[in-house]
Amino acid sequence: MLHYISSSPLRPRFLLLTSPPSNRRFLAMSAAPSSSSSRLVRGAAVPVPSLGTDEACAVADDAFQRYTSPSLRRGGAGVAVVWFRNDLRVLDNEALLRAWAASEAVLPVYCVDPRIFSGSTHYFGFPKMGALRAQFLIECLGDLKQSLRKKGLDLLVRHGKPEEILPSIAKAVSAHTIYAHKETCSEELLVERLVSKGLEQVQIAKGGASVPKKPLNPRLQLIWGATMYHVDDLPFPVNNLPDVYTQFRKAVESKSSVRNCTKLPPSLGPLPSSSIDEIGGGGTIPTLESLGLSVTKSEKGMYFIGGENAALGRVHEYFWKKDQLKDYKVTRNGMLGPDYSTKFSPWLASGSLSPRYICEEVKRYEKQRVANDSTYWVLFELIWRDYFRFLSAKYGNAIFHLEGPRKVVSKWSQDQALFESWRDGRTGYPLIDANMRELSATGFMSNRGRQIACSFLVRDMGIDWRMGAEWFETCLLDYDPASNYGNWTYGAGVGNDPREDRYFSIPKQAKSYDPEGEYVAYWLPELRSLAKERRNFPGASYIRQTVPLKFDVGNQKKDQQFNRQRRPNNTYRRQVK
Ligand SMILES: Cc1cc2nc3c(=O)[nH]c(=O)nc-3n(C[C@H](O)[C@H](O)[C@H](O)COP(=O)(O)OP(=O)(O)OC[C@H]3O[C@@H](n4cnc5c(N)ncnc54)[C@H](O)[C@@H]3O)c2cc1C
Repeated sequence: MLHYISSSPLRPRFLLLTSPPSNRRFLAMSAAPSSSSSRLVRGAAVPVPSLGTDEACAVADDAFQRYTSPSLRRGGAGVAVVWFRNDLRVLDNEALLRAWAASEAVLPVYCVDPRIFSGSTHYFGFPKMGALRAQFLIECLGDLKQSLRKKGLDLLVRHGKPEEILPSIAKAVSAHTIYAHKETCSEELLVERLVSKGLEQVQIAKGGASVPKKPLNPRLQLIWGATMYHVDDLPFPVNNLPDVYTQFRKAVESKSSVRNCTKLPPSLGPLPSSSIDEIGGGGTIPTLESLGLSVTKSEKGMYFIGGENAALGRVHEYFWKKDQLKDYKVTRNGMLGPDYSTKFSPWLASGSLSPRYICEEVKRYEKQRVANDSTYWVLFELIWRDYFRFLSAKYGNAIFHLEGPRKVVSKWSQDQALFESWRDGRTGYPLIDANMRELSATGFMSNRGRQIACSFLVRDMGIDWRMGAEWFETCLLDYDPASNYGNWTYGAGVGNDPREDRYFSIPKQAKSYDPEGEYVAYWLPELRSLAKERRNFPGASYIRQTVPLKFDVGNQKKDQQFNRQRRPNNTYRRQVK
């Protein structure tokens, strides 16, 4: 078992671990060094971002100042609640701003939903949320609470289901509206419906408790806010979204524009005058222990610091301090170290970082430093993220079904032993094993690694792609249903775009992206003593390969037919719905 952790300059850290049996979560904890790729190569854990406390605070203060406007006025009455979900930020949070503008007092609430924090994945019963992501979110909540306090508010934390908590809070504070960001996938949509239904049972006096008039029901006001391009600005209705990414991208680039980030007033207060104590106090942010998670020390890889302040720090570090943006397109296919790619995804997934903020920072960088293919390519990738989000709205639950949006019926294996060898990084292919161990140890895997690991599971092992997708759901810090299942359906050849059906040859990928075996030797130290060119091809000096590759090294031809003959026998077939 590979464990680790480290502490950051900002706060102590906890990290996850590997070889996790299906329903147990492991964590690790350690003390922190400073960051750099070379340091990572030498084997020390690296915080992301790696800014010191003072620098991180200064960066965040500067960003908040640039997005604060003293001229904003609020014209509303009564109380509005803000229900925080996957939007754990203050900057460019339209739900928060709309609540402020439409009220005299705002109450921010977060519900620690047991279905998310302690539930199981849909088909295979893995933990819904691994310990690393739980820790990351705990940090996001702590950071959000601090930022709200600085703005004259606070974060009320309640443990339970939003549909049970929010109606009673709305009643207690006589809230006329609950503002929240709209989601697109079924579990989240169900909760939205249940919250709305619960609010129908609540009646408050019009104009707030102090001005009794005809009673009304508080309403749930859902706001679009997770994507760079706003859904209302698309040049087509979401149901007519093109099935080819390039068509989508070209259309939005030529016909839509990205809205500006919202500005903040200097203060978002006050909280409702009814004392928070009267409604049970501010509540407590959960701890790992309270969520039933365990902790073990670890020493390798990257560890991500949760929260909006860290997110703003990472944008500053990657774009401005390290000046990496100008090289992004060249480095983005790397696998080792914090700086081959932006590493924005964990903060984007928790909503601690707005994609529109990244877009504005790219534009600012292009004006002040340089505009090139690399600066554009970050936006290109964010458009992929948008695309998967819109696809999830278009295709609904089809992105979770075995046959995917294209309803492709194929035979798949659910061989447990093979799956576990992949999950635990014991396939006998160093490139797969290293990536899977990194995922378990850090909650992160590069995009290159994800594509290779997905292709191997699905094509070389013939395993039901949903097992891989659900394992990623457990482990990823940046887990996002639309991006995760969208990418897996593409990798499995069941995605909406038939042209995105790709096989990744392990030997070829190893030669192209880890030619000296630095990456595999980092995660599999037993390979370090081998000659560099042998680390990815260790033969008998490494563990036995669990499956042969689908194609010989010399034959990289894409198999459009998705040859099933070499798949294990215990397959099953599902009918197209
Ligand atoms: C099988 C598989 C599963 C994935 N699951 C997720 C997931 O659950 N959540 C998630 O955010 N990303 C997922 N991705 C996409 C991608 O791997 C990660 O977004 C990326 O590796 C994050 O690292 P980064 O922030 O340094 O990315 P960068 O290369 O710096 O890209 C910048 C941003 O663009 C977006 N982006 C880049 N590539 C993609 C992509 N293929 N799909 C969607 N958005 C993209 C991300 O928001 C990312 O933060 C998955 C990819 C694959 C192949």
